[in-house]
Amino acid sequence: MSAERPLLDGPPAGMSEGDRELLATARSVLDGHYRAGVHEVAAALRLADGRIVTGLHVEASAGRASVCAESAALSAAIVAGSPVLSVVGVLRRPTGTRHLIEPCGVCAELLGDHAPEARVWVAVGDAFEAVPVHQLLPFRRRRSARPAGA
Ligand SMILES: [Zn+2]
Repeated sequence: MSAERPLLDGPPAGMSEGDRELLATARSVLDGHYRAGVHEVAAALRLADGRIVTGLHVEASAGRASVCAESAALSAAIVAGSPVLSVVGVLRRPTGTRHLIEPCGVCAELLGDHAPEARVWVAVGDAFEAVPVHQLLPFRRRRSARPAGA
């Protein structure tokens, strides 16, 4: 895998019309709220009822207090009350380049608990593809005392 994240020039090859709408929505949210170092990622989620919910990365001065776009969007999805089908995250760098971005490990855990069958777009080498959330962390920890989603 290339060390550099591939550029997002437009919708990836093979991206469905519905996911293209997610991509455009995430880009729009990010362009509307982008602040270097503070709001650099937006995520858009397609729900089973057809709606789209979004989330925006909020960076904190203390790193662990930061909120990821994917986690914020998942919270909105749960409020909306419909299962998540598809996830697209977009990163904008201070230089202005845009990239598809996969969920971080923490968000992969959270999505794995609440939307394991959702498909999420990730960079694979120099290309992009959608994979099921449960494939993001093949050896993730599972709590037996607290069921997923509880
Ligand atoms: Zn995250």
